[in-house]
Amino acid sequence: MDMQILSTAQELAAVCRQWHREGQSIALVPTMGYYHEGHAALMDKARTLGDRVVVSLFVNPTQFGPNEDYAAYPRDLERDAQIAREHGADLLFTPAPEELYAEDAATWVEVPEMGQLLCGISRPIHFRGVCTVCSKLFHLTQADYAVFGNKDWQQQAIIRRMVRDLFIPVTIVGVPIVRAADGLALSSRNVYLTEEERAQAPEIYAGLQYAKDMVTHGETRASVLRDAVLRRWASRLPLGRLDYLQVIDSASLNQIEEITGPATMACAIKMGKARLIDNIQLN
Ligand code: AMP
Repeated sequence: MDMQILSTAQELAAVCRQWHREGQSIALVPTMGYYHEGHAALMDKARTLGDRVVVSLFVNPTQFGPNEDYAAYPRDLERDAQIAREHGADLLFTPAPEELYAEDAATWVEVPEMGQLLCGISRPIHFRGVCTVCSKLFHLTQADYAVFGNKDWQQQAIIRRMVRDLFIPVTIVGVPIVRAADGLALSSRNVYLTEEERAQAPEIYAGLQYAKDMVTHGETRASVLRDAVLRRWASRLPLGRLDYLQVIDSASLNQIEEITGPATMACAIKMGKARLIDNIQLN
């Protein structure tokens, strides 16, 4: 059967309810569209998990701050629908903002401690918007699985915590970061980069890899790793402006001084009009 495209919450819930009645499991892939191979990898993963794959495409206004790129966020529904179809989606859900947020919507889902770290410092309402919209999607679809990219490591950790704390009956599945051949993590926002910025951007990941190499060779002090990456970026990434670079506990997201358990190095770099995030598992 061809992929269905639905835009109302009621229709989405009805189709998913029917699939569940028939004993079929559902894997959900929440996205904001403008697909690249990272999104495709999530859809491919979902295809291996569920009998039915639901892809949601929604540029969620509540996760953008007042001076962020909500209006400018790239959109191409026709191309996205084709990619979702090619990657096995059974249903593409493309609601209008009013469909997911009633005019007098008053309920938020928030994981405040985790949401205020890292990206939350410069984007204080971002993760409240993410948790709220994902809750709505989990409830509407009653998905058995939901697939998230490791690129948004903080997002995935927060969603895992929310799902655990609220006993939402969905299993969160992470997918490795998909990168361009030169190492830059694929992102819908990479289209904001000028040619010159794009040429430097692979240094973001090169810096993270440099830190990981140091860990492999025995370094455990977060400050030493951080200083080494910042020094490297100072010479090789002059167009980048640091938002943050932190060594964190991979699950709690808390900053650590010394690597003793699973640790992640996470960063956000502003380049021109783009704000790029990346991370690496250090051990
Ligand atoms: P977005 O449409 O940018 O909100 O992303 C939707 C989902 O795709 C999120 O779970 C992201 O983590 C994931 N994603 C985005 N870029 C990548 C990438 N380069 N590799 C893996 N997953 C990604």
